[in-house]
Amino acid sequence: MSYQAEYIWIDGTEPSPLVRSKTRIVADGKHPGIWGFDGSSTNQATGNDSDCVLQPVFTCPDPLRSPGDVLVMCEVLLTDFTPHPTNTRAACVAAAEKYADQEPWFGIEQEYTFLQGGRPLGWPTQGYPAPQGPYYCGVGGDKMPGRDIVERHTAACMEAGLGIEGTNAEVMMAQWEFQIGVLPPPLIGDHLWVARWLLFRVAEDFGVFATLDPKPVLGDWNGAGAHTNFSTKAMREDGGWDAIIAGCEALGRNIDEHVSNYGVGLDLRLTGAHETEHWSKFSYGASDRGASIRIPWGTAKDKKGWLEDRRPNANMDPYVVSRLMLTTVCADAAK
Ligand code: ADP
Ligand code: MN
Ligand code: MN
Ligand code: MN
Repeated sequence: MSYQAEYIWIDGTEPSPLVRSKTRIVADGKHPGIWGFDGSSTNQATGNDSDCVLQPVFTCPDPLRSPGDVLVMCEVLLTDFTPHPTNTRAACVAAAEKYADQEPWFGIEQEYTFLQGGRPLGWPTQGYPAPQGPYYCGVGGDKMPGRDIVERHTAACMEAGLGIEGTNAEVMMAQWEFQIGVLPPPLIGDHLWVARWLLFRVAEDFGVFATLDPKPVLGDWNGAGAHTNFSTKAMREDGGWDAIIAGCEALGRNIDEHVSNYGVGLDLRLTGAHETEHWSKFSYGASDRGASIRIPWGTAKDKKGWLEDRRPNANMDPYVVSRLMLTTVCADAAK
């Protein structure tokens, strides 16, 4: 029987790209091949030269449809089959190939917020809920709106075979997190973008909008980040400490390139409060949740492991962030 393939891609919306998708019915026994779309409707082309190409790069089972249906993550190409200017994956692939010998791994903690009617889910229509404190990893009563959506999303990611590792409720009411990893580039980006698509799609069924807005509520409420955990083979091996410190130092020499590519609105979130370092400063330290880079306690104890870049926003592009990690940390180690 023919089956459904949902083609997923990243668009050209400014300042923060959106994820888009459309459905193709594929004949029995055929693979989902190259396809196209109208780039003039996604800020990726002009009306008089509107065709963009969808190049499938990652396919997994579609947990929301029937057995045999698939999700297809795509790169966007121009009609001459070169990468479209909005295609961030192609450069990530090039860096991944260049530094493959260092065996880079990533784990990303994706935070997000559920909205309904423009307000965080479950918040009173006027005023605010009780201050932050009980919500992080909380349970019970009307404190934890959205858990039914989280449960459905987690099951969907598992059925799709994505590298989902866990979930937790976050510090702000209606804010949650899932983690994806550990995966090499560009797979970390493929899995995270498909997991994001599933989140948006599952939330639709509940009449809820899941946003990656890094600071959905101004004031004394935590923002939403995408902590990026990173290691190389040298960092994971005995005596990896020196490689971890060298990585932190390399990141400290390249602050601007990173913070200007870590998601729109970084300055709203990295204020120096709410478990962040100020976006204009750089620091690293063991177990320090007020630092730019945190070295997890287990890593500090074992003198090997990984580092956590706490700066990326929830709305960051994992193809961009993973590429920068390679071109800063792996390039320095290769010197
Ligand atoms: P916390 O909330 O305490 O910062 P989490 O448990 O949410 O930590 O996330 C830890 C992340 O670290 C996971 O995404 C996991 O994949 C990642 N991680 C674990 N080991 C490694 C490693 N060796 N290299 C890179 N990332 C790692
Ligand atoms: Mn976490
Ligand atoms: Mn978190
Ligand atoms: Mn973290």
